[in-house]
Amino acid sequence: MKFAVRACSNGRSRVGVLQVGSCPNPIETPSLLLSTRKGLPVFISPDLLPSLPSPDSHLLQMSPLHLVLRKKYYMLQQFSWVLVSYFLCLEGPSSKTISIVGGLHQLLGLHEYGFAAVPRDSVFCLPECGGTNKIGASFETPCGRRLIKPIEYMEMISSMKPNLWATLADEVPSWVPEKRNKTSVDRTLRWLDECIALSPAGGAVFGSIVGGSNIVERQRSAQQVVSRNVSGYWIGGFGLGESMDERPALLNAVTDILPEEKPRLICGLGLPEEVLQAVAAGIDLFDSVYIYHLTLGGFALTFPLDRIERHSSNFQLSDIGSDYTKINLRATVFRKDTSPIVDNCSCYTCQNHTKAYINHLLNVHEMLAQILLEIHNTHHYLNFFRLIREAIKEGKFEQFRQKFIETRRHLAVAAVCA
Ligand SMILES: [Zn+2]
Repeated sequence: MKFAVRACSNGRSRVGVLQVGSCPNPIETPSLLLSTRKGLPVFISPDLLPSLPSPDSHLLQMSPLHLVLRKKYYMLQQFSWVLVSYFLCLEGPSSKTISIVGGLHQLLGLHEYGFAAVPRDSVFCLPECGGTNKIGASFETPCGRRLIKPIEYMEMISSMKPNLWATLADEVPSWVPEKRNKTSVDRTLRWLDECIALSPAGGAVFGSIVGGSNIVERQRSAQQVVSRNVSGYWIGGFGLGESMDERPALLNAVTDILPEEKPRLICGLGLPEEVLQAVAAGIDLFDSVYIYHLTLGGFALTFPLDRIERHSSNFQLSDIGSDYTKINLRATVFRKDTSPIVDNCSCYTCQNHTKAYINHLLNVHEMLAQILLEIHNTHHYLNFFRLIREAIKEGKFEQFRQKFIETRRHLAVAAVCA
């Protein structure tokens, strides 16, 4: 992996170029990593992946926890009284099998995509620190809640061979007591050293930084991680209860310490306003869980992407709580709407299908609805990141950010008043 900063704007925000081994072309940052379930975007099949903007869509984020072996018990025999026999069957490929196949790229057939493995399930559940102890971190997995030790985590990383991976972390929400927050920093540092000691050859190591909503602990975590031999930084513990107002100081406390020449990846910040906050602090890579949740709810992104210079006048309100920044295609108002989601959008969905068709698919519970929505939403959000990069290159990021937030606020107020 290679990374270089190419342009800066307003102090911290920056445009970089990330070259990942398996990707044919370098990817500009700030950029979106497509969140996946077991290595694939939840609703987009591999044959449709190339329809997304390239090379922006070539970075995939996965959680090794999705591939933890599922143990399933099958009933073998049951008698009329009490005796019940079971046999144990292990479902899913084991780490050994994935290793024999050659890793994630070979297993999934995605040879031109880069994989980033993080110790967080960004798709299905938030981190829950209750079950974590000094032995390992507690996660929800396909086989129930499991305690993952650093050695088990590294076995998964070694077999999957992602292009970059973050060390095991003890993430805590913002409301935990200070003592627990301090323990999380100490534990994450200890696991970082254990993971590095066990790390396989190949794959860039991203050191995990935590510290909750305490600025001093955030700085301590960042300072300690910077002193280790890592290729980049994974910033955990965000999107877990901290307020929008306190977030900039927490982010800046971390990025002020990090060396400029290494990339920074964050999880848990997905809303456009949150992304802009983090870009302003100097974050380079984001997950796409926001898009997943929108798609699952039947929403399509429609906020303007024309440099926010003018407000589109053709946005329509649904009758069940949509606003001008997104529409809910389940709404009856779209039943006879023969226009695409966004008129000038070049995505596969908007080029080939109408709102009426997607409304129909949603109403009859066809999964094609989510496939088409995820294609549009991903396309739209990748273009949002492109606008951010253009603004930074022009040295106008802060103006872009203020204008964007003002426009969104105006549209939201208009929707409430309509
Ligand atoms: Zn579209």
